[in-house]
Amino acid sequence: MSEHFSYELIARDGPARAGVYHTPHGDIPTPIFAPVGTQATVKSITPAQLHEMGASLVLSNTYHLYLRPGAELVAEMGGLHKFMQWPNPMLTDSGGFQVFSLAGIRKIDADGATFKSHIDGSMHRLTPEKSIDIQQKLGADIIMVFDECAPPRDRAYNEQALERTTAWARRCLEAKTRADQALFGIVQGGIFDDLRKKSAEWTASQPFDGLAIGGLSVGESKEEMHAVLDTVVPLLPPEKPRYLMGVGSPEDLVNGIARGIDIFDCVLPTRLARHQSAMTLRGRVNMLNAIHSRDPRPIDDTCECYTCTNFSRAYIRHLISAREMLASTLISIHNISTLLRLVRLCREAIIEQRFEVFAHDFLSQYNHPKQK
Ligand SMILES: [Zn+2]
Repeated sequence: MSEHFSYELIARDGPARAGVYHTPHGDIPTPIFAPVGTQATVKSITPAQLHEMGASLVLSNTYHLYLRPGAELVAEMGGLHKFMQWPNPMLTDSGGFQVFSLAGIRKIDADGATFKSHIDGSMHRLTPEKSIDIQQKLGADIIMVFDECAPPRDRAYNEQALERTTAWARRCLEAKTRADQALFGIVQGGIFDDLRKKSAEWTASQPFDGLAIGGLSVGESKEEMHAVLDTVVPLLPPEKPRYLMGVGSPEDLVNGIARGIDIFDCVLPTRLARHQSAMTLRGRVNMLNAIHSRDPRPIDDTCECYTCTNFSRAYIRHLISAREMLASTLISIHNISTLLRLVRLCREAIIEQRFEVFAHDFLSQYNHPKQK
């Protein structure tokens, strides 16, 4: 475990908790949502804009940066923080998820995975040691173990993948040498209660700096996701942060926080923005809809983001119709701001011991908009 990181519990309300994760690049108030900068950039947003929105943690993808521009180049340019001019906390994933979902897998064995690049078809190999080496060169504050992501309902595959994930996690702990990086373990096991329990107990027993839950939001039902969280979270040590990987819809954030999750990440806010969809605390709004063409109101009149403070729905719809880049930027600013505001509201409610009522009210109103 790294002495440069510590989780400070501020308040607890049922299983939900508010805290601060102290890192060498600053404090992360939790619960927190981390916007995803796949290619060392949160699409269409500058770091200054992210800072203004109150983002405190940004995620980037090892798989993508390894293939292009390469970890050595990023290291030569001073590391990821300097390269992309984000001076605050950063997290990199291990590349495992993309290798198993995006790249063409050629061979998986006990040692690692051989895959074909989705960019140019070239062949590559990732092992636990190689993933840690790349993540150490990139230099994010939080790095992840290299894991195998199995389809959530395939029992035999999950049993085998879990064995490999456990062996690989052990090798990641041994391979890590940088003290200024925190290494998080990942709980896998699909939708299977006994596998999740086994994985959670083992991961909790190891000297990881934090614990992540992987393999969710990949096609299972909401009930299945909640059941996994109900099994896993109570087995995790309370003094370490818990991270639910790849989850970021407003209702999933509230349901995850209610079960004791501290950190979330997802491409959803920027991906939806590129498809003209604005996120609000009441549901999604399609900004291309003709209903907005003469609407002087902001996307959300309760939102204080740069977009909602300055621009009308009519203007944003015009930008979309004219295929202007600024449309994606403005909707992305609003969407990320909305998720950051939601986790802030949850945090305040936990500190003030009224989270259960807050979560109930939020979930009963979500997707039942009273306004147009
Ligand atoms: Zn807004």
